[in-house]
Amino acid sequence: MKYISTRKQEETNIKTAILKGLADDGGLFMPEYIPQLEADFFENLPNLSLQEIGFKVAKEFLGESISDENLKEIIDEVLNFEIPAVKISDNIYSLELFHGPTMAFKDVGARFMARMMAYLSEGKPMKVIAATSGDTGSAVASGFFNVLGIEVYILYPKGKVSPLQEKQLTTWGGNIKALEIDGTFDDCQALAKQILSDEELNQKFTLTSANSINIARLIPQSFYFFWAFAQLQKLGKPIVFSVPSGNFGNLTAGLFAKKMGLPIHQFIASTNANDVVPNYLETGNYESKPSKQTISNAMDVGNPSNFERMKSLFNDDVSEFKKEIKSYSFSDEETKETMIKVKNDFDYTLDPHGAVAYLGLVTFRKSFDSAHDDKDNEDFVGVLLETAHPAKFVEAVEEVLKTKIEIPEKLEAFNKKEKKSVEYPADLSLVKNYLMEEN
Ligand SMILES: *Cc1c(COP(=O)(O)O)cnc(C)c1O
Repeated sequence: MKYISTRKQEETNIKTAILKGLADDGGLFMPEYIPQLEADFFENLPNLSLQEIGFKVAKEFLGESISDENLKEIIDEVLNFEIPAVKISDNIYSLELFHGPTMAFKDVGARFMARMMAYLSEGKPMKVIAATSGDTGSAVASGFFNVLGIEVYILYPKGKVSPLQEKQLTTWGGNIKALEIDGTFDDCQALAKQILSDEELNQKFTLTSANSINIARLIPQSFYFFWAFAQLQKLGKPIVFSVPSGNFGNLTAGLFAKKMGLPIHQFIASTNANDVVPNYLETGNYESKPSKQTISNAMDVGNPSNFERMKSLFNDDVSEFKKEIKSYSFSDEETKETMIKVKNDFDYTLDPHGAVAYLGLVTFRKSFDSAHDDKDNEDFVGVLLETAHPAKFVEAVEEVLKTKIEIPEKLEAFNKKEKKSVEYPADLSLVKNYLMEEN
């Protein structure tokens, strides 16, 4: 299968697409078509394990670039934790994506990408550049930590990640370097793009990106949409996914799953005050904006990088986009009220990102119910993607819920370590000097 840039100027194979991350024309790599899975796979879905699903789906995208045996090994290593669909209330389930090593869903994509890159680069030295709004950096660090020949540079916005997130970015040491950037996440993302396309740096080093722009992040994120079906198909109702969205990687992976044949009834793109996509669906105009800071900070994105991919999946047709995706924006106030309500009513603790997704389901239900009078026969199961463990945002969650929450041992271990970072303004020439001096 060929991989083609969303800006159409570059065409390559999966190996190059993964190792480069970003295409030379500034676009993002997409498979030339989305493979279809056969009917038996879907019939047999409830009998498959998460790892079996992962192997089958990944194989379609990776083809002969990796042997079955090596791919199985990578999948088993990456998916070595549970992803349960936990019932919150009648017809609302939380797909808990946070049981991995850094306790956010990004573990799935970042660990898969790290292992694929290490495998495909065959030991050649490489510098990985990752901008993060909080969770990507630590998942990428965990995936690449101690991988021989690979140096990782994490760019994060100073003062705009939670204290625990910061510890998860800055305490690795070894081949993981944290750059604390005086600016917003958008500044970090722009800086990462500048670094990756800088000629001099590219001459000296092999550079690659580890953002959600890398196609190897997206492929594994589609696994758990199938896995949610494997767990919930028995309920016999249409399934609606609400995806708390920032750069829209998770949602794009869901669109891949649907195009592969998974009968997802509806996608809901739930956002915080950073409402570029809901506005686009309403007006047909895409206008990026500076990002606004919210309590669901991993979604504070003003110019979502995967928008180009979604547009290409819908052939640039806003009406197609609207059919597949409903999108709503919610305030911090609404998010907090929801966290309190879900805790009181159902004794379930949502993190702020999951709460935004929950709100998306509630909003969609209102429009669904008013369109269907026969409520008994017309119903759906709502699945929210719970993208982080609430303890990752302990300050915000405790303040909202007015109660102590327990910090899992996995996270506590980061807290005990010492922060190490280097601080820079969002300025290419200064950061470039730093990188040039690194060997
Ligand atoms: C990154 C992140 C998101 C947003 O995911 P995208 O794929 O960028 O849309 C949501 N929640 C959490 C906790 C995250 O870390």
